[in-house]
Amino acid sequence: PIELQHVGKRFGATTTLRDLSLSVAAGEFVVLVGPSGCGKSTLLRIIAGIEHADTGTVSIGGRDVTALPAAKRNVAMVFQSYALYPHLSVAANIAVPLAQSRLSAAQRLPILGGVLPGTRSLREGITRDVRAAAESLGLTPLLDRRPAQLSGGQRQRVALARAMVRRPAAFLMDEPLSNLDASLRTQARREIVEIHRRVGAPTVYVTHDQEEALTMADRVAVMQGGEILQFAPPEVVYNQPADLRVASFIGSPR
Ligand code: ATP
Ligand code: MG
Repeated sequence: PIELQHVGKRFGATTTLRDLSLSVAAGEFVVLVGPSGCGKSTLLRIIAGIEHADTGTVSIGGRDVTALPAAKRNVAMVFQSYALYPHLSVAANIAVPLAQSRLSAAQRLPILGGVLPGTRSLREGITRDVRAAAESLGLTPLLDRRPAQLSGGQRQRVALARAMVRRPAAFLMDEPLSNLDASLRTQARREIVEIHRRVGAPTVYVTHDQEEALTMADRVAVMQGGEILQFAPPEVVYNQPADLRVASFIGSPR
């Protein structure tokens, strides 16, 4: 599970998150929606440890991680601009987080040249995990290609494989499909839900797409002005919006 309690965050004079509490159960898929600037990305960055809250606590998998840096949280994050390393193969791109977590800093450097370093058993372990992730996302035939030789949807799947390969304790996605065209999005949504079921990690998924929110979520969190207005299953948010702000944002009949 992911547990946020009374999280507050300010940037200068702006209050971005106000006393925000949220709990995502183990294996739950939560979709976070809300107007631009309401604090969605900030919230994800605080869970990931890229940003730190001014007040309140964050725990992941029952462990208080409030004071831990991102590298010690085992959280996978996929952004809208899923940067892949252009000079590395698909296989090496997927392997990057594994190589980073299992190798010492000195050993890590050569990966940037495209070679997977390390001892034989380490290499074999990495290869096995990469193959399993690639297989579950239909990337096996593409493992030797470079990112430039892939479609947008395939690149996005590589980014997902890279995120899931180290079995994260939490999965965070910030509008990961907004660069895809409509037909790829529909397929990618199904893939993400499917991956989520297999990885089983608690997930927070940010989107501007109403349909995505209503079709993918176990529960939807509707945010505005740094607060969560309603946190409930999609049909409840749609049919019984907590107030007019939720109703107008979700576009439900009220
Ligand atoms: P969008 O839907 O447009 O991506 P969002 O809900 O993700 O918006 P955030 O990126 O979390 O919004 O930003 C929330 C508020 O916090 C905004 O007013 C933003 O300008 C401010 N903010 C975020 N990060 C910083 C920062 N590093 N420094 C100053 N202000 C920031
Ligand atoms: Mg954002």
